[in-house]
This record gives sequence, structure tokens and C-alpha cells, in this order.
Amino acid sequence: MGPLVKVAVVGAGVVGASIARVLTMYEGFEVVLVEREPDVGWGVSKANTSVIHPGHEEDPRQHPLRAKLCVEGNRLWRRWVRELDIPARWPGELMVFASPEEEREARKYVELAKLNGVPGVRLVYGRELLALEPNVNPQALGAVYAPTAGTVSPFEAVTAIVENAVENGARLLVETEVLRVRVEGGEVKGLETTRGFVEADIVVNAAGLWADEVSRSAGVEPEFRIRPRRGEYLLFDEDVRGKPARILHTVPTPVTKGVYALTTVHGNLLLGPTAEDLPPEAKDETGTTREGLGRVLSEAAKLLREVPPPSKVIRTFAGLRPEPPGGEWLVKAYEDPWGFVNVAGIRSPGLTAAPALAHHVAGLISEAYGIELRRKEGWNPRRVGIARLAGKSLREIDEMARANPDYGEIVCYCKMVSKAEVLEAIERIRRIGARPTIDGVKFRVQAGFGRCQGSFCRWRVALLIAQATGRPLHEVLVGRGAYAVGDVKVLLRGGAA
Ligand SMILES: Cc1cc2nc3c(=O)[nH]c(=O)nc-3n(C[C@H](O)[C@H](O)[C@H](O)COP(=O)(O)OP(=O)(O)OC[C@H]3O[C@@H](n4cnc5c(N)ncnc54)[C@H](O)[C@@H]3O)c2cc1C
Repeated sequence: MGPLVKVAVVGAGVVGASIARVLTMYEGFEVVLVEREPDVGWGVSKANTSVIHPGHEEDPRQHPLRAKLCVEGNRLWRRWVRELDIPARWPGELMVFASPEEEREARKYVELAKLNGVPGVRLVYGRELLALEPNVNPQALGAVYAPTAGTVSPFEAVTAIVENAVENGARLLVETEVLRVRVEGGEVKGLETTRGFVEADIVVNAAGLWADEVSRSAGVEPEFRIRPRRGEYLLFDEDVRGKPARILHTVPTPVTKGVYALTTVHGNLLLGPTAEDLPPEAKDETGTTREGLGRVLSEAAKLLREVPPPSKVIRTFAGLRPEPPGGEWLVKAYEDPWGFVNVAGIRSPGLTAAPALAHHVAGLISEAYGIELRRKEGWNPRRVGIARLAGKSLREIDEMARANPDYGEIVCYCKMVSKAEVLEAIERIRRIGARPTIDGVKFRVQAGFGRCQGSFCRWRVALLIAQATGRPLHEVLVGRGAYAVGDVKVLLRGGAA
């Protein structure tokens, strides 16, 4: 075997993580994943609708790569969620129409399904619609049913993918911001970062909203600009009435796939998103607005028989789509500079496509730089999730607590999370080389995700992190840059960044 090809992937979102995992499947690569946050999956991949799209909403005549990789991604995720033990559901989706005009528009998607080879997509009306979804708004005329749609927990997906990539030899560097790509003599040499130089033969730019800046720093695509397109959401408590069994959404428009109403893998009702273009510099504007949330509620009323009262909202949040010019993903391996690969502007359906996109990028690297892809013997496809109390019977919980008494000690009552789960989450964060934070624990085991939004458990989680890491309590982070106890009010208010 020749010398190892050093690949640095910028950005540990679902795209960069998937690329890192896929590259570890092959011989000859040394993979490092570089992320500026303390943990993985905190960018665009954290706040989205979490739908694994079937692929009938992508027009292959306009966006052939998006269409192809969306359909392939939907297929691949079924394997990835099994291999990586990622919470997922596959209830199918209904694109609900309420007027003849909307129906005309919706029919186009049945045709697109045929073009893209998406199985089972058809129109449903009346009794069949009601049977598929008893909680649909009775005013609905009908819907396009796409049985292959699913939903995953996006942050658990990213953490699982990274755990597996690291298990297979990839290295993760967190709190490491890429300042520029170093290019010498027309070749990529590595990354200049806030933590020094990272040598690389190939740099894969999967920096989400900031991928345009990373690309420019390599002298590539100077005109390419990513605009943030904000999407706002409401998350309701688990115990609300009228949660849909299927994934429901309104008919898409040119800028958005419509507003969704779905039951998340953890049992909450999620409504959203809006679609609002922000100025290019507003890449951190994840605040919600009264108007945006109002729009979500009125659109959701078209979908659901009953929208729960606002008192049942446990959280509002917004995500930013990394919108490239013309909606076109920029996925390309360059010869000048040799070794630079853009996987930029990965707007929706980027979550769905990520596994297929990762294989596609491995193929591009092989083709552009003449590297043969040979599967590695002993590559381990499996990762086992953290054993959870939630959803278990008392008998099972009794057994778990006898084997490990920390399972008998509840830390988060809303989501039934025990001390054992929190400690395991902290251990896994450390094992991949990330920094344990209150948000990192929350995203892995749901502590703080329930109706009290961490008012009761955040303090306990902070203490457990301090004890497990040997760091002083005032150095425990809630999320990006927000200290847990340096400012006790931040901790008690739930003031994550
Ligand atoms: C509102 C909304 C709804 C969506 N709904 C869906 C959906 O239902 N289904 C679907 O398939 N897709 C959906 N998407 C799209 C999907 O979320 C994205 O396509 C996907 O998450 C993009 O992942 P990424 O890895 O490219 O970006 P990110 O997750 O943002 O990852 C990029 C990473 O790079 C890091 N980074 C940036 N700059 C630097 C630097 N200089 N140095 C080091 N690290 C850096 C960031 O911190 C970040 O962690 C939605 C998106 C939004 C916003």
C-alpha cells in the first residue's frame, strides 16, 4: 500500500460527518474532521424539519444531482439507521391540498415521482386520506401520498455517524476554526486553523453556511455566495391531542417545501418551517419572530384537524438554510488547486441526501485525483446507541437499575433520563474527542428536552459534567460560548446559545 492520503473535512455537520464515515470504509485515507464548535452537529444539521424526503419534490431537469442523491439517500438511510442505531420512523408523508389550484400543483409531484423512480407515490382522497391520517384537517380535498418518507433525530444521527467514523479511524478536532486553506504551487497543503496547521493532501469543504468563505480562502469560486434562509418552528409537548401519524405538509412553493406538521421520533409535535431570506451576513440569526411563528400556526391549521393551544408549546427555534445561488449545490473536485473539494451550499434535502452525497464525494475524489477506492477489511459498520429508560416497562427498568444503580436515579423527569444515561453521553462525547457540554448531553439523551426545558435537570447535568471531566463547574458550557455557572442566571433561564 502507498502512503496514506491525508483528507481534512471541514465541518462536522451531517454532510461532513457522512463524508468522514464513508472515507473510512476505504483503504489509504487518513481522515480528520475539523469543527469549530465544541461538539458535532451544531450547525444547520441541528435545526431542521428532520424529514428523510422520498425524492418526488426534486425536479431532475433542474437539479439532477439533488434529485438523484435525494432518492438514493432515502434508501441508504434505512441501512444507516439500522447500522448506527439512530432513532427513526418511516410513516410516509401526505402533501395536503385544499383547493383545485393546489391540487393541480400537487399533481406535478406524482409526475416527478415517476421521473425520479420514487416508489408508491399517488393521489389519495376522502376516506382513504382519512384512514391514512385521522388527524388531517377535514377541509382537505386530498393529498399526494409518498409512503417512503421518514423522520430521524438529526443530532443523534450526526453524533452516531461521527462515533462510527472515529471508531473506524477518523480523528475529530473540535474548537478548531479553519481560517484559510493553505495552497502552494497549485496544490492544497492543509488548513490554517485557530489551533495551528493541519496538514492535508485533500481538503473537503463541508462548512455549511460558511462554505463560501472557506472556498474563497482557497482561491476557488470567488463569486459564490451562500445566503441564509431562515425557517422558524414550534415544538409542542408530547401530551398534546391530534398529533399526526404521517408526516403532513402543505404544497411546496418555489422557495420552500411547505410547512410541515409531524410527530418527531421522540413523540413531540413539530410545526414549521417558514422560509425567509436574510442578508448574506446574517449567518447567526437564529432568533424567532412573532410574525414567523404566526405564519407557521396558520399554515399548520390547513393541515391538522386541531392545532394545540400555544400554552402547549415547549420551545420555538429557527434554522438557517445555506441557500446557494439558484438553489444549486456546489459539489466539485478541483484540479486547481489540486486537492480541493467543495461540498457547499447543501440546502434541503441535504439531510436526506447526506449518505448518498458522501459516496458521491468519495467517487469524485477517486476520479479527480486518481485514487482507487478499495474497501477496507475489518471496517465496522455498527454503532450501538445509548441504552435508554424512556419507553421501557417497569420490569425492564428494574433489571437495568439492578445491573447499574445509576439507572435508578432520574436526572431529567420530563424525558425520563437517568444518571447512567447522562454519564454515558459524557463518556461518548469524550471518546470522539469533543467537549462535554449541557447541550451535548441534551442532544444525545434528551435531558432538558422536555416540558421544563431543563429548568430542573440542567444543574445536575452541569455537576455531572464537572465531576466526570474534573473541570470546575464554572467552566462547564451550556452550548456555544455560554457558560453554565459562570453566570448562574444563564443556567437557570435555560440560556443556551
Ligand atoms: C429550516 C430547515 C429545514 C430543513 N429541513 C430538512 C429536511 O426536513 N430534510 C432534509 O433532507 N434537509 C433539510 N434541511 C437541510 C439540511 O438541514 C441541510 O442540508 C444539512 O443539515 C446541511 O448539513 P451540512 O453538514 O452541510 O451543514 P452544517 O450542519 O451547518 O455543518 C457545517 C459545519 O461546519 C462548521 N464550520 C463552519 N465554518 C467552519 C470553519 N471555518 N471551521 C471549522 N468548522 C466550520 C459548522 O460549525 C458546522 O458544524 C433543512 C434545513 C433547514 C435550515
